Amino acid sequence: MNQAVCTMAEKLNIIIVGASYLGSKVARALAKSMPQDLAVNHRILLIERNSHFSHLFTFPRFVVVPNHEHKAFIPMSKLFNEAQCNAQIITASVETVNESEIVLDRDTPFGRRLPWHILVMATGSRLSPPANMPTSTKVDSVQYLKNLQERIRTAKSIALVGGGAVGVQISTDIKSYYSDKEVHLIHSRDRLMSRFDASLGDIVLQTCKELGIHVHLGTRAKLPDTDGPCTIELQSGEIISVDLYLKCTGQVINSEPIRELAKESINSDGTIHVLRTLQVEKHPRIFAVGDVNDL
Ligand SMILES: Cc1cc2nc3c(=O)[nH]c(=O)nc-3n(C[C@H](O)[C@H](O)[C@H](O)COP(=O)(O)OP(=O)(O)OC[C@H]3O[C@@H](n4cnc5c(N)ncnc54)[C@H](O)[C@@H]3O)c2cc1C
Repeated sequence: MNQAVCTMAEKLNIIIVGASYLGSKVARALAKSMPQDLAVNHRILLIERNSHFSHLFTFPRFVVVPNHEHKAFIPMSKLFNEAQCNAQIITASVETVNESEIVLDRDTPFGRRLPWHILVMATGSRLSPPANMPTSTKVDSVQYLKNLQERIRTAKSIALVGGGAVGVQISTDIKSYYSDKEVHLIHSRDRLMSRFDASLGDIVLQTCKELGIHVHLGTRAKLPDTDGPCTIELQSGEIISVDLYLKCTGQVINSEPIRELAKESINSDGTIHVLRTLQVEKHPRIFAVGDVNDL
């Protein structure tokens, strides 16, 4: 192997923030395809605040079904193979980005402030736990899921607020796995999974009814301060008492690190406006991919 390729000092940084579905794919594709003449003076730094790749799609099920939770957190150590040694993963959170540097939340072997040449924002979005983990390490996240599984197992009644994909999946999994529990699904819109096609909402509602889930549509809930036992007051006046309450609403777009630098490209919902090339207007060396952009 060409030793020059593996010397990481004094190279221009191609920084990818976020190592989830999009960021890890971009980083691997770049590392694989970078020509030797570019690799001698560029390095790829993939920055991720979580210790492991989080396979989000499995979270709703592993909230309910025990003994699989460890499978949701996948080591990233094999993301780049030896031949792609101009790529590294840094475990840290990016706090801010200015014209020339990114600032991390901690000291790393690469320092706390890193100059950037190309920046790829792959920071996605976040939801309240359990749709996202409240912690950043595998050990703590596995423990969090185990605790929640136990609380669900012992609760006689459970309310979920938010009838999007996450609320629907968790409530139907609870009722499929524990048919004797009283499950309430509360949604402010007139249709479940209202961001999708209307016919899907009808199918999902029918399935919820067949499972015996109490679906409350078109009503807002006054959110309790505790996750239970608690009472939940609905706009309709109805009051529901449950042993456990799960919040499945409130998606936030993770564009904070560049909100100051590229303020003219941040939409009101927090997404980053990009051109068809995925570049941020007026900042041609910044790209945004995945859920964080507005495509
Ligand atoms: C519970 C759940 C289930 C889902 N199920 C499905 C499904 O079945 N099918 C489907 O198609 N879609 C599903 N989705 C949606 C899908 O997960 C998203 O579309 C997808 O995750 C978007 O990928 P992304 O890489 O753009 O961002 P994300 O997956 O949101 O990843 C962003 C990454 O950036 C990191 N990050 C953020 N900010 C920083 C920072 N400042 N510094 C360092 N790192 C940072 C985060 O830790 C995270 O790893 C689901 C979503 C959830 C929450």
